[in-house]
Amino acid sequence: MADPAQCSIKVVCRFRPLNSSEVARGDKYIPKFQGEDCVTIGGKPYYFDRVFQSNTTQVQFYNAVAQKIVKDVLEGYNGTIFAYGQTSSGKTHTMEGKLHDPDMMGIIPRIVQDIFNYIYSMDENLEFHIKVSYFEIYLDKIRDLLDVTKTNLSVHEDKNRVPYVKGCTERFVCSPQEVMDAIDEGKNNRHVAVTNMNEHSSRSHSIFLINIKQENTQTEQKLTGKLYLVDLAGSEKVGKTGAEGTVLDEAKMINKSLSSLGIVISALAEGSSYIPYRDSKMTRILQDSLGGNCRTTMVICCSPSSFNDAETKSTLLFGQRAKTIKNTVSLNVELTAEQWKNKWEKEKEKNKTLKSTVTWLETELNRWRNGESVPVEEQFDKEKAKAEVQVLDSALNNDKAAPTPALSTLPGVKLTDAEKEKYEAEMAKLYKELDDKDEEINQQSQLIEKLNQQMLDQEELLASSHRDHDTLQTELNRLLAENEASKEEVKEVLQALEELAVNYDQKSQEVEDKTKEFEALSEELNQKSSSLASIDSELQKLKEMTNHQKKRVTEMMSSLLKDLAEIGIAVGSNDIKQQESTGVIDEEFTVARLYISKMKSEVKTMVKRSKQLESSQAESSQKMEETERELTACQLRISQYEAKIKSLTDCLQNVEQKKRQLEENVDSLSEEIVRIKAQGVVEDANLNLCMLAFPQEAVEKQIQSHREAHQRQISSLRDDLDNKEKLLTELQDLNQKIMLEQERLRVEHEKLKAADQEKSRQLQELTVLQDRQEQARQDLKGLEETVARELQTLHNLRRLFVQDLSTRVRKVKCPHGLSVSLFPLEVTMIHYIILHLKYLYIYLVSFIWRLILVM
Ligand code: ADP
Ligand code: MG
Repeated sequence: MADPAQCSIKVVCRFRPLNSSEVARGDKYIPKFQGEDCVTIGGKPYYFDRVFQSNTTQVQFYNAVAQKIVKDVLEGYNGTIFAYGQTSSGKTHTMEGKLHDPDMMGIIPRIVQDIFNYIYSMDENLEFHIKVSYFEIYLDKIRDLLDVTKTNLSVHEDKNRVPYVKGCTERFVCSPQEVMDAIDEGKNNRHVAVTNMNEHSSRSHSIFLINIKQENTQTEQKLTGKLYLVDLAGSEKVGKTGAEGTVLDEAKMINKSLSSLGIVISALAEGSSYIPYRDSKMTRILQDSLGGNCRTTMVICCSPSSFNDAETKSTLLFGQRAKTIKNTVSLNVELTAEQWKNKWEKEKEKNKTLKSTVTWLETELNRWRNGESVPVEEQFDKEKAKAEVQVLDSALNNDKAAPTPALSTLPGVKLTDAEKEKYEAEMAKLYKELDDKDEEINQQSQLIEKLNQQMLDQEELLASSHRDHDTLQTELNRLLAENEASKEEVKEVLQALEELAVNYDQKSQEVEDKTKEFEALSEELNQKSSSLASIDSELQKLKEMTNHQKKRVTEMMSSLLKDLAEIGIAVGSNDIKQQESTGVIDEEFTVARLYISKMKSEVKTMVKRSKQLESSQAESSQKMEETERELTACQLRISQYEAKIKSLTDCLQNVEQKKRQLEENVDSLSEEIVRIKAQGVVEDANLNLCMLAFPQEAVEKQIQSHREAHQRQISSLRDDLDNKEKLLTELQDLNQKIMLEQERLRVEHEKLKAADQEKSRQLQELTVLQDRQEQARQDLKGLEETVARELQTLHNLRRLFVQDLSTRVRKVKCPHGLSVSLFPLEVTMIHYIILHLKYLYIYLVSFIWRLILVM
């Protein structure tokens, strides 16, 4: 049988010790404790069911506050333990503590252990079914901590009009370990989902629900007990922190659930008829705990620091308000048939009393309304009404069919049973509708949540598309810049090639000129060589002539010598005959003179010849010098050409390298384009979203146009490159030709050089020869002079001799004695002449020998 009993919410207050930073700051410890139930802050006392000082251990607190609740729940009552207080006031420390530390563990792990300990010690006929659920409420949304996929659960009412979280994971557990595992799992999930756990835990409410169902296998009695263990969000005013945007929304929502709790508690404390449980999900879930069927304990957690005194005071006031709330506790029992019957009887009794009261009151009201004044003895009196009901009851028992005279005679009875039923039905319908609406609201909010999520996803996608677009844009810009740079490079290369071509033209022109010059030079050289040859031949001729003359001189000399010998013989024989007359001597002298004049003329022609030879030699040496000069000029030019050709080759190589680089660039660019195209295909999907902000066609067009322009540029660059390649091959061919020409010129130059050397050697020989000839000429001159002198002497002697002879001849005309005087004179003269001739002869011989030696 249900056993309704009024009981207030139990409120206990727990102060934590000063923490290290508060101690370091030198905060004052403000609470003063009076007895077990009073704490004074700033002289103002606050009374609670129990007040726990800072040195209270976990086990002490548990034994004093929570232990009893385990018994209640196992006996079929509902229980709730709230922890209320500002952040870091010790709520979590009180509710959970260190979950796996036997000394420091809080209420929840201890309750879990105790439940199982009780169960183990209870009647064997009892069968238990224990389920646990763990969820948190954040921004007025219920998130299942045992199933992270359930992020926005809704609250419904069961058939007994008790709210519950619909769809929340209920885990069946058989041991304390399983419960602790579930708690660990839930805490873990909570940590995973959020970035700043401290902030999150201070702004969310966490609720751990233990649902215990027991059945007595003998009596078939079924009892259920629900235990809510609630760690509330920090009670400080979040809105004051100046939060903005989503944070502000968050602050409002956090405030909403906490302020709803405050409002609900105030309304309950004031005994208001309307309690706004539906204002927040938390108050809705805890509807039974606040003024309903539940044994509720509220732990008010406080900081002892002077720094937090304002918050501490408001927390204490909240606790005091909550203390006035009255709950109506009943056993949650599923009745047997007998129990139902008894209950029905009792209810009927109660109903009767109430009905009569209502009728009485309505009658009285109507009389008052009609302007009657109802005398005191006729006014509603509880005792009287009870007595009348009893009378009515007995009458009813006597004659059940008879109508109730008192009631029927009472005026203004308007509510018939049918109407009441109708009213009840209406109420039920309305509640049903309310639930439906709730459901709808939930669905809508879930939908909103989903849509919000989708929106976020879309925004994310959009942002990533934007980012992609940006990166693509930058990539495109980079490519464009690269393209520009390569264009610029190509331009430069083209310019360089143009310059090269111009240079090349100039060079080829120069080469042509030089070739022409070279040809002219070789022509000249040929001429020179031919003239040299002619000079050679002339020289040869001259040599021949000289030989010839030598021969002739030798002949002449030999004949002269012969003559002289003959003369010598004639003179030396001493057999000068008288008969040899002056005519013979004259004749001989004439012959000698003739010879001498002949020799003279010969010598003169020889001198002339040698002069001619000299002049031609000077000429040829001049020519040789000129040729030499030209040759050196030619050599110089050739070396210049060589240098130029070398630089041209270098330039060509450079151009080749640049071309290769450009080709590589083009290749890499085309690769990049292919890659970008491939990316483009992947990005298209993303870009579709991007198109919300940027029209798709425009972007595609832009990209297409960029691609086309790029391709056009590439193809034009390729054409340019082909042209350059052609030009290059032509240039190379030309270069080859020039090289060959140069080689040919070099060979010719070598030849000319050799010829030149030969000529210079010949020139040297000729100079030596000329020197000798000069010497010979000088000698000849000396000889000539000597011969002339000798001839003169001879002539004088002859004259003397002739004079002497004529005088003698004249004397001889007188006979005899003449020959004696003539003879010694003659002999002397002839001897003298012979001596002279001998001397001349020796001189000539020696001269001729020298001449012969020279030649
Ligand atoms: P809240 O959950 O209210 O924000 P916590 O329970 O996390 O606060 O407590 C904040 C800190 O204070 C924790 O480090 C906790 O260990 C410590 N603390 C709280 N209450 C007590 C107490 N009664 N005794 C010792 N330390 C406590
Ligand atoms: Mg906490």
